[in-house]
Amino acid sequence: MSNIVPATPTNIARAAAILRDGGLVAFPTETVYGLGANALASAAVRKIFAAKERPGWDPLIVHVTGTDMASRLAQQAPPELTARFWPGPLTLVLPKLPGVPDETTAGRPTVALRAPRHPVAVALLAAAQLPIAAPSANRFRRPSPTCAAHVREDLGDRVDLILDDGPTPLGIESTVLDLTQSPPAILRPGGVSREELENVLGPVTLAPGVEDEVAARGLAGPGMSVKHYAPRARVELFESDAALRKRAAELTRAGVLYPQPETLFAQMRALDAEGVEVILALLPPPVGLGLAVRDRLFRAAGLQPQN
Ligand code: AMP
Ligand code: MG
Repeated sequence: MSNIVPATPTNIARAAAILRDGGLVAFPTETVYGLGANALASAAVRKIFAAKERPGWDPLIVHVTGTDMASRLAQQAPPELTARFWPGPLTLVLPKLPGVPDETTAGRPTVALRAPRHPVAVALLAAAQLPIAAPSANRFRRPSPTCAAHVREDLGDRVDLILDDGPTPLGIESTVLDLTQSPPAILRPGGVSREELENVLGPVTLAPGVEDEVAARGLAGPGMSVKHYAPRARVELFESDAALRKRAAELTRAGVLYPQPETLFAQMRALDAEGVEVILALLPPPVGLGLAVRDRLFRAAGLQPQN
């Protein structure tokens, strides 16, 4: 029997009870679907790593109701940032307080926090009254899930319940901003643009992508590993539509990808399902959400992001 249920108040209450009992629940956020567990329970968090086949060095984002809950887990976030961008698709990396398990932060002295704004995520956090560790609900290295069927496809019965509320509005993950560096560094571009952050903070840096091996040794954030978000097909990238069309004319089993942030991952999965061998993707300019789309496309192609 399928574990996908509509995100009704009754099912949200059921999901909250599963989280309190140490189980796994997939739920929609405004970015992508998350695979949630009680962030304060090591055993529950370990189930996330097992279900996703995610390596233990890759820390999780902890979802909170807001700054009150955040203040119990980490040093205070800059109020000008939380006032402007929370709830929303901005994850803040901050020095953690005692009590946040090492499993959640992959042994790091910092924790990544975000207050989501999707009504189902908000209702689930309110019902559970727990910080919820939730990475994207895909299998490691697969494109992030933007609907309940993608979660089911990747995780099947490894998750106790999948709350379905249709496609996620943004379709691309949160921006991860490291506030322990000066100036602050974007570890992963996402739903809040660099320009929006710089309007509030002044200049922020953009961390370069790094090889998995470096990340595995704890030298860099995991979303920063180069090969990530990969469809099964090989991905070729183009800066101009003319060059893309010329290449398309040379190939027989190629699919074309004109990415929008909201549909990028769904398009990658759809092209994989069609069985194309090569995906030819047009890179958007590196402004606004284009920066995040370029980042995901470079990673899907196994290349160092260039902006
Ligand atoms: P996801 O699996 O898509 O939710 O990705 C979570 C991402 O958050 C990771 O891949 C990291 O880039 C980032 N992250 C989480 N915790 C930390 C941390 N303590 N320090 C640096 N980056 C982090
Ligand atoms: Mg992910």
